[in-house]
Amino acid sequence: GLTAGIVGLPNVGKSTLFNAITKAGAESANYPFCTIEPNVGIVEVPDERLKKLTELVKPKRTVPTVFEFTDIAGIVKGASKGEGLGNKFLSHIRQVDAICQVVRCFSDENITHVAGKVDPLSDIATINLELILADLETVEKRMDRVGKMAKQKDKESMFEHDILVRLKETFEAGKAARTLSFTEEEMKVVKHLHLLTIKPMLYVANVGEEDLANPDANPYVQQVREFAKSDNAEVIVVCAKVEEEIAQLDEEEKQMFLQELGIKQSGLDQLIRAAYSLLGLATYFTAGEQEVRAWTFRKGMKAPQCAGIIHSDFERGFIRAETVSFDDLLACGSMAAAREAGKVRLEGKEYEVQDGDIMHFRFNV
Ligand code: GDP
Repeated sequence: GLTAGIVGLPNVGKSTLFNAITKAGAESANYPFCTIEPNVGIVEVPDERLKKLTELVKPKRTVPTVFEFTDIAGIVKGASKGEGLGNKFLSHIRQVDAICQVVRCFSDENITHVAGKVDPLSDIATINLELILADLETVEKRMDRVGKMAKQKDKESMFEHDILVRLKETFEAGKAARTLSFTEEEMKVVKHLHLLTIKPMLYVANVGEEDLANPDANPYVQQVREFAKSDNAEVIVVCAKVEEEIAQLDEEEKQMFLQELGIKQSGLDQLIRAAYSLLGLATYFTAGEQEVRAWTFRKGMKAPQCAGIIHSDFERGFIRAETVSFDDLLACGSMAAAREAGKVRLEGKEYEVQDGDIMHFRFNV
């Protein structure tokens, strides 16, 4: 599956956040296909629609879909033999699909800051510089090879060389590859480079509990937001310490606690949703008397591929899908009413599944 890696300088709250993730962790019995490794935290993706569907269909059980976070600091600590720590760190970032960079925005005299003072922008610059330098090296190596061919007027090499030049200039200006825009053709070339700074970035501003109700009163949060805009990245505000506490509560207690704090959704839930959509993921549902279940797919996937997420036989033998959108089903009140109202469509192999679709696959075995 796709995973988001958690990175950040020491003492910014990464372990606290990762603890919250593992404590909030998904009921693993429901997800036998997920590999459980110590540095991977599997969480359920919060989704109001799943609750509503459950009320409507009243199934025996409800199964949310899940998302994986990887604690890169944890891996790096455990694997520092041989290769330098820096290289291990980078090679693990290379393996994740999105980066969650935890940034310290809380003040606490008792907790040492590695750079001597709280300064989120300088912390971000420290981490990002590592990533940018690694990408610069990648691009320069590639330029050596492609440059010679480009001189001989090889069309493809010239095309690639132009992209490499743009990337190099961007890195030399201290900016990430994600700040550039590429055409589809160009993107194909860029993908082959496996750059670190092209990955979606989410800054996790870790604030003190007192800031939660009004995080934008914290000037550090403002700074991070401002920077994220220029970095084509997103920002989520959390208080890692509070998230660790919330993760141990049941749903009802959690709602009461959130109300007390003056927030609608826990920071962790916001983080999960943000990482999920940053990766271009969406959810479809299956709904029967036995089970109502959410499934993750990538936006743009067609019906047979989506069926294949449940079982490869479903994809191989795909005939068609009966589909109704969540909003239509909710408005009609039941599957039967939706059918009567003509809201249940029969879709074929070319149908692009939409976020919130309720799918019933028909297939040959
Ligand atoms: P890591 O080195 O990035 O993994 O940082 P830790 O998660 O170990 O946190 C470092 C210290 O900061 C610990 O003592 C945490 O309890 C504390 N800490 C983490 N998050 C917060 C927070 O939101 N507020 C405050 N006041 N302390 C925090």
